[in-house]
Amino acid sequence: MTRVCTVCTSPARSRVDAELAGGPSLAATGRRFKLSPDALLLHRRDHLSPALAKVAIERYTADSAGRAFDSVVDRVESLVTRLEALLSLGEQKGALTGASNVAREVRQSLELIARLRGELDTRPTVTTVNLFSTPEFANLVSAVLEATQAFPEARLVIADRLDAIQAGEPG
Ligand SMILES: [Zn+2]
Repeated sequence: MTRVCTVCTSPARSRVDAELAGGPSLAATGRRFKLSPDALLLHRRDHLSPALAKVAIERYTADSAGRAFDSVVDRVESLVTRLEALLSLGEQKGALTGASNVAREVRQSLELIARLRGELDTRPTVTTVNLFSTPEFANLVSAVLEATQAFPEARLVIADRLDAIQAGEPG
């Protein structure tokens, strides 16, 4: 008798294959994707060729890196929006020094976004997972915090957001 493999027919198959090929335990994978450990065991033994596993891992890694990248760009963009609000506040209050600092940070953040976008177009998305360890990112963070010294409340919000971004927390 032929049984249909519930793993092969699962919509999450490539992610399941990626985990089976080198990830967490069968039980953990089974819980996450609501598949029985027995089915996973049989599937790994009978249906998961090394080549298939390699493709699954690559696709899964590219997906996660792509999502991580999009989320970083979103967050930098939201930071720019806040900086722009700070900028007009500084202009309204005639705080010209503060305003020009903020203007510089806005420009640098926009350049960062543009550069990240350019890299995304020409290089594999996998390379972007190390974004937070680049000196450019560290410089951006300290420059933003430095430029917003005159705005303690905004500074707290920004620092809080940056912490969340670096911890990889969602929105
Ligand atoms: Zn299968």
